[in-house]
Amino acid sequence: MKKNVKSLAKDLISFLDKSPTAFQATSNIEKKLKAAGFKEAKEENAWKFKAGDRAFVKRNDSSLIAFIIGNEKPFKTGFKIVGAHTDSPLLKLKAESENKSGGSVRVATEVYGGPLITTWFDRDLGIAGRVMVKKGGKFQSKMVFIDKPVALIPSVAIHLNREANKGFEFNRQNHLQVILSSDSEAKDVLKTLIAGKIKEDPKNIHSMDVYVVDLQKGGFNGLDDELFSCGRLDNLQMCHAILESFLAVQKPNATTVAAFYDNEEIGSKTPMGADSNFMLSTLNRIVAVTSNGKDDYFRAISNSFLISADGAHAVHPNFADKHDPAYMPKLNKGPVIKMSASFRYATTSETSAEFERICEKAKVPFQKMANRSDVPSGSTIGPMSTAALGIKGIDIGNAMWAMHSVRETAGTLDHWYMCEALKYFYGE
Ligand code: ZN
Repeated sequence: MKKNVKSLAKDLISFLDKSPTAFQATSNIEKKLKAAGFKEAKEENAWKFKAGDRAFVKRNDSSLIAFIIGNEKPFKTGFKIVGAHTDSPLLKLKAESENKSGGSVRVATEVYGGPLITTWFDRDLGIAGRVMVKKGGKFQSKMVFIDKPVALIPSVAIHLNREANKGFEFNRQNHLQVILSSDSEAKDVLKTLIAGKIKEDPKNIHSMDVYVVDLQKGGFNGLDDELFSCGRLDNLQMCHAILESFLAVQKPNATTVAAFYDNEEIGSKTPMGADSNFMLSTLNRIVAVTSNGKDDYFRAISNSFLISADGAHAVHPNFADKHDPAYMPKLNKGPVIKMSASFRYATTSETSAEFERICEKAKVPFQKMANRSDVPSGSTIGPMSTAALGIKGIDIGNAMWAMHSVRETAGTLDHWYMCEALKYFYGE
């Protein structure tokens, strides 16, 4: 394993470890951007940009679009856009539901997205997200990450459920309550834990978007560390690849854009999701303040290209029959181009050819993926964002095992390949 390949993967793992929810992921992306000279552009303020300016805009503290104004006008070169999602499947705490059962304090959860639920049992769970705190008569948003085990969902013993290994359907209301304490006298445990962590009086905490999060740190696996495992690889791995590639290009000719959207796991139809006007309004405003003619926006869009980057399913050695034999993406064999006849992915033969060209130029191998014809395909942000903008685009991603498990596994070299391909795209 080359040193620089491994150190890139180490940087990714540290980003994953400190980004348990979309809020922390966005805040960590923001920190890196600010360190690289990016300034926040607020949507409510007037914008003014010139070539070389670096800025980002945020929604809900959980979605962010960053851009570098190119040397050329957008109508000449188009925009170069790469997008991914900041959210992952999680269990969201129902903050008002604290209750007692069997001598323990519990809080009910709601399932966010489509996790492999069994993988959440018997794990060391922390709590993370965002809380609204009242300060001097005003509300303030505060990030919280309790990174020590304070919660768990124990399995029921096999002796009490002899059929467990034949498959068990969880009742989401009854069986996914999180245990916070076995002290039956304890009160307001959730609020007290959070208040203690953010150093606030519990009575100043008004509302919260908080989740239980798996605390096991990411790490390498395999003979030569060629594999690595962590939570939230879908899709923070692509967020990290986009950010690294985006920051590597100093003075691009085209205006380059990096998009990090929340809410892909629940369909993206939120004000900060990919199926909102977030990208459309951002690009529109960039053209409005850097060009003269009204027609320039539409010319810019017709010259643009959007890459949607999200996880892909690597062929699982024990379940190889889940794949079409002609399309079996493997770990460490390069980015996967995702295709679907019913446009669950944005890829066309034209956009695939363009991405294949980029990979060849970047000296990166690539693979192709289409689902078995008798298995419905997943989807991601590509189709909705290309349709909303009327832009050419493609869905790609790195192969992984156990997508939506609390712990997913991917190829170390693939992360390097993806960054090389995206760097070439942004910098060409
Ligand atoms: Zn995803």
